[in-house]
Amino acid sequence: MRTIEIFDTTLRDGEQTPGVNLNTNEKVEIALQLEKLGVTRIEAGFAAASPGDLRSVAEVARRVKTATVVSLARSVQGDIDKAYEALRNAENACLHVFLATSPIHRQHKLKMTKEQVVEQAVAAVKYGKKYFDQVEFSAEDAGRTELDYLAEVVKAVIEAGASIVNLPDTVGYLSPKEYGNIFREMTLRVPGIEKVKLSCHCHDDLGMAVANSLAAIEGGATQVEGTINGIGERAGNAALEEVALALETRKDFYQATTAFNLKEIARTSQLVSRLTGMIVPGNKAIVGGNAFAHESGIHQDGVLKEATTYEIINAETIGFKPKQLVLGKLSGRHAFKDKLADLGYHLEAEEIDVAFKAFKELCDKKKEVSDEDILALVDAKIVHEAESFKLDTVQLSYGNTTMPTASVRLIRADGTVAEEASCGNGSVDSIYKAIDRATGEEVTLVDYRIVSVTHGKDALGEVFVRLQQGDIDVQGRGVSTDVLEASALAYVSAINKVIVRRGEPVIATAKV
Ligand code: MN
Repeated sequence: MRTIEIFDTTLRDGEQTPGVNLNTNEKVEIALQLEKLGVTRIEAGFAAASPGDLRSVAEVARRVKTATVVSLARSVQGDIDKAYEALRNAENACLHVFLATSPIHRQHKLKMTKEQVVEQAVAAVKYGKKYFDQVEFSAEDAGRTELDYLAEVVKAVIEAGASIVNLPDTVGYLSPKEYGNIFREMTLRVPGIEKVKLSCHCHDDLGMAVANSLAAIEGGATQVEGTINGIGERAGNAALEEVALALETRKDFYQATTAFNLKEIARTSQLVSRLTGMIVPGNKAIVGGNAFAHESGIHQDGVLKEATTYEIINAETIGFKPKQLVLGKLSGRHAFKDKLADLGYHLEAEEIDVAFKAFKELCDKKKEVSDEDILALVDAKIVHEAESFKLDTVQLSYGNTTMPTASVRLIRADGTVAEEASCGNGSVDSIYKAIDRATGEEVTLVDYRIVSVTHGKDALGEVFVRLQQGDIDVQGRGVSTDVLEASALAYVSAINKVIVRRGEPVIATAKV
């Protein structure tokens, strides 16, 4: 049985999902959970992209202890220097350099010859090896590269010192048979390839990212790259939870497994969904809300008689627990702290104070507080940062025959107050217009969604908004027992992100 290493790029390729912007605290929280899940390598970002990205990579590198932390870099010295600056304090660090190899990219994008591409790739790997033990080289658009030329590139970067060679299907174009064949061919054609890790990286444009990743494993890949919930550029990346469960469930066939702690999958999926605002569809394999629901009478009857009639995996395997009610009004700080540890938080004392205060406030509004409530609450309270505005109060006058009017009171970072009122086409619209006036920000609301965190009439509502201002595209999140308050909180948190991003223009973007 082979063990396939998992390279998670939720924080890099996943963050390239339109509208997804994770701040440093959010990235750290996801990274620590990925480490618990058993990911081998965590790609924390692209350090040269912006000062904010560099800070996030550095902070993930400081907090993560067992997993290897990776930064992406183009094959140029300046990017590699930034990656080193971000990763110098990591326990285990890996540089990830890339250069496109396909004819279409060489001719139209790079305007470079085959020889020039090899030369630049080799130079980048050699330069990276000065600072890093682990250097991964990605042949961008390997999927559409001539096999003999690809073999030449792979041979050259291995000789230059690459320890991992990644052959991505950058555009999600190949069929499983073709993609698996690339790995077979490289194994046959490149002497010394057994000394390095061979990695696959697939996109889901034709819905084949997971199938292609599994085909690559059959062809000889020893590392799989992907994201939690399959988020990422365009149609997304290979969903790592699907790859892991396919290998686990069909190890008789694949003769391969991962080091994943499968019981952490549900929590990781929920955390990534919540912090990115990318809601998991009900019919999504493995982690969708309906993935384990049996609707047809015949199926229900079968499952009751013998679960394996229609169930190839069960919900407990990946850590979905039967709904249990936990804490309430009478629970003390100690019980709350234990619960947080149980749920996987690594909070500092003052963060626990903030979370406990919010928990007590919630207990006043809600009799029974479930794990999901606590998760939503703590994520909302702890992981935000750099607040230019904080929502103090929101008031609304509403009648079905009159125009709703909202007034809001915001506190600026310097302690001064911004108070404004506005009417609007609906309750939420009037609140948002009042917030626009109070903050003086001109933004466009491009998405607004409400999700109920738990069931029942006193359930917590979670609101996701996506705002744009020029090139800036951010999402915000708010949680409350009242959906209008949650709406206001989400909007203010998104405006705070707009202000942060405006102060830090993006220097470069990269795609692999
Ligand atoms: Mn990619």
